[in-house]
Amino acid sequence: MHIFKRKSDLAHFLEHKSTSVGFVPTMGALHPGHISLINQSHADHAITVCSIYVNPTQFNNPVDFDTYPNTIVADIELLIDAHCDVLFLPSTDEMYPMGIHHIKQYELGYLNTILEGPNRPGHFNGVCAIVHQLLEAVLPNQLYLGEKDFQQCMVIKQLVSQLHLPVQITTCPTLREHDGLAMSSRNIRLSAQARKLAPLIYKTLQYIQQQANQLPFNIAQQQALHDLQAAGFHTSYLEIADANTLELLHEYDLNKSMVVLIATQLENVRLIDNLRIN
Ligand code: AMP
Repeated sequence: MHIFKRKSDLAHFLEHKSTSVGFVPTMGALHPGHISLINQSHADHAITVCSIYVNPTQFNNPVDFDTYPNTIVADIELLIDAHCDVLFLPSTDEMYPMGIHHIKQYELGYLNTILEGPNRPGHFNGVCAIVHQLLEAVLPNQLYLGEKDFQQCMVIKQLVSQLHLPVQITTCPTLREHDGLAMSSRNIRLSAQARKLAPLIYKTLQYIQQQANQLPFNIAQQQALHDLQAAGFHTSYLEIADANTLELLHEYDLNKSMVVLIATQLENVRLIDNLRIN
């Protein structure tokens, strides 16, 4: 596997390969969910590029940024085992030579007014800033994203469409632990006790999914929020939405493709997850 720290070296390597490139951007602390994206890219393309960069501009919480896990040695081994061809490992000076406080502002529209948007001010603008730059550096044919970050996938699809960036986007299913907890780099930060409680997040999503023919949504939502609170979770939102537009729904609508989305905090770790309803 080739490792590049500079955009110019990466570009120089890639311009000599007249072949198709799949790209998997990550923030490291890799787990099988990330590797599933690498595997998909490897199956589809001659060259797979993975980036590892903990992007400061997408963190609205400095403690979350400072404590974001770094397991770079293990990450490199995992990427080699997965036959990843290139790792792009830039520094902040490389990605933000003008500093992190003067980044481009993107047209985020409706998607920034719901769910993660108001809960994490500046987050999606930071995501767009880094993804836009990474896409310009890698110039991939295809970009692989995880459905675990459902709203992020929609924001990046909107970015690519607005800027007419020449890349296809593939979204990949969420990989889970045996007890249903969505794999996440932040899971490492859960205490043993919190880790035992964390599968309630997926159980809650399944409950909301199962009630689609049974209960009005607001009753199911209240019950679920109550159970989460009783178990010690601080929940930012638990909502259902149109899976194509992310329009929030007040009631189940079985004529629509729906998704239930949650953000909840256990001790000091904020976790998100989602599940399609039909
Ligand atoms: P991150 O390192 O958390 O920024 O994630 C990098 C990419 O991996 C994003 O496209 C995520 O949606 C995706 N990803 C994270 N967790 C999972 C998972 N459990 N299953 C599948 N993809 C995931």
